[in-house]
Amino acid sequence: MRTLVLNAGYEPLAVVTFRRALVLVLAGKASVVAEDGEPVVGPRDVLGRPSVILLHRYIRPRRTYVTAVSRRGVLRRDAHACGYCGKPAHTVDHVLPRSRGGADSWENLVACCLRCNNVKGDHTPSEMGWKLRFTPAEPVGVVWQIKELEKPAAQWSAFLVPETAA
Ligand SMILES: [Zn+2]
Repeated sequence: MRTLVLNAGYEPLAVVTFRRALVLVLAGKASVVAEDGEPVVGPRDVLGRPSVILLHRYIRPRRTYVTAVSRRGVLRRDAHACGYCGKPAHTVDHVLPRSRGGADSWENLVACCLRCNNVKGDHTPSEMGWKLRFTPAEPVGVVWQIKELEKPAAQWSAFLVPETAA
């Protein structure tokens, strides 16, 4: 189930999961324009599944910009899924280990589960015979900007069903 996000000027901005849309609505960042399908039942409320939401604040789509790298940012970029095995990740791994000159950069950091991180240690993926599931890069684009809007809405995450990585 996907939700269309309209910018504050009513122009279509992006398509996100309904979970992400609900987070924005619950955080007061957007309002529901149209609902569709089965309601979502939470501990305190029953909410309609939004099919279209309208952002309250205008987002200026960014084409190129530099985002400061952070552990949280890397985990969010990689949807908290290990870059090597795909399992839930709570740590960040330097693809080229820091001890061997690896940088703290978007290109050299991936979300990593504790197990892979411990096993990998100071090795490179090729030394381990491992392959990254994707090529790490600086996050860009509108969906990332929408994700950033969700930051103060973390208290709602327990209310919502988990989603698979978009
Ligand atoms: Zn892993």
